[in-house]
Amino acid sequence: MTLFRPTIEQIAALTRDDRPVCAFVYDLDALMDHARSLVSALPRGAEFFYAVKANNDPRVLRALAPHVAGFEVASAGEIRRVRAAVGLSARIIMGGPARTGSDIATLLAHGVERLHLESLQAMRIANAVAEAAGAILPVLLRVNLAGPVPGATLTMGGAATQFGIEEAAIPDAIAVLRDCPALRFEGFHFHTVSNNRDAAGHAALCAAELALARRWAEAYGLDLRLVNLGGGWGVDYADPDWRFDADAFARLLAPHLDARTRVQFECGRIVAAYHAAYVCEIVDLKRAHGRAFALLRGGTHHFRLPNSWAHDHPFAIQPREAWHNDWPRPEIAGEPLTLAGELCTPKDILARDIPVERARIGDRVVFLMAGAYGWDISHHDFLCHAHPERLFLADGAVVPEQSA
Ligand SMILES: *Cc1c(COP(=O)(O)O)cnc(C)c1O
Repeated sequence: MTLFRPTIEQIAALTRDDRPVCAFVYDLDALMDHARSLVSALPRGAEFFYAVKANNDPRVLRALAPHVAGFEVASAGEIRRVRAAVGLSARIIMGGPARTGSDIATLLAHGVERLHLESLQAMRIANAVAEAAGAILPVLLRVNLAGPVPGATLTMGGAATQFGIEEAAIPDAIAVLRDCPALRFEGFHFHTVSNNRDAAGHAALCAAELALARRWAEAYGLDLRLVNLGGGWGVDYADPDWRFDADAFARLLAPHLDARTRVQFECGRIVAAYHAAYVCEIVDLKRAHGRAFALLRGGTHHFRLPNSWAHDHPFAIQPREAWHNDWPRPEIAGEPLTLAGELCTPKDILARDIPVERARIGDRVVFLMAGAYGWDISHHDFLCHAHPERLFLADGAVVPEQSA
């Protein structure tokens, strides 16, 4: 059985019995333990930021704040979220495409420590706004590598994507820097892959990126203070017990580090994925065209992740004995089951044709690994169904909503 916290027993004790259950349950203690262990694996001097877009709930941000170097954000809204949740002490770094002047004004007003620039236009805008404000803005240039990158499930670089400055255009970007007195170049940024499960391959990719950054610094006479190597440390949704080998990654990367250039990471998924469950009650069972369906109170409007990744999300069934109706209790046993949500669209499927021992109306489905890119990427008000409860546990108790 998996190492999950919250446990199925905890979830059973927490969720209300008087209506069909639909809840996210986040274990903040387990989240903090996990973050600490990731950070402690890193080579000395490397900094580990949390990428806020994976889960921006204030209770998550506050739980992580003491354990990470700071927060990576991609919008003015994320800056405000971090400041509101954690306060002025939080270090914030910012990246992302489609930058506007108002983004730059917001980041200057909120003390963001560095901006990762993804285009020449973004460089010009950042320089103009910083210059008008009388500020010097530390920046990294984000690179979209020329070559293909094997091994990861999502590719942001080394391919035709909208992210970063393509490798061939880096000399142009360095030339533009010289026209941008309000920008202080500090180094390069690479976030090339997401969900890389190959720790050795990821270390090799990072080493190659560091070498490229050093070659450019050497060729153009730049002071390379910092290289941000992005996020992308993987999880395996098909095997919830599997873990990215952060120790091996750090050991393999260490020989490529030196005292002159600091390295940073900004991981989201691996931090937030594990210690949360999405729990949905089975409210109906039916068969159609030979396939057995369980209909859930909930669905992809709360948890779009399996849909966006086109995978069957891992789950466990939590049986409940109570049955208060005076008709026989429907069940499906020993056959493949498809888990569908409450939306009026055939796309509202969370797992397809998965063999289960038994599922009854009133049992609960506990989706594991629901903490990253779950609630945060979902279209909550499509069809206007009631939102799920969202329960955040710390020290075994639910953190009250008002402290959100
Ligand atoms: C999304 C994102 C991250 C975090 O990626 P994970 O795969 O969740 O670790 C880091 N950096 C940038 C620029 C991103 O867009």
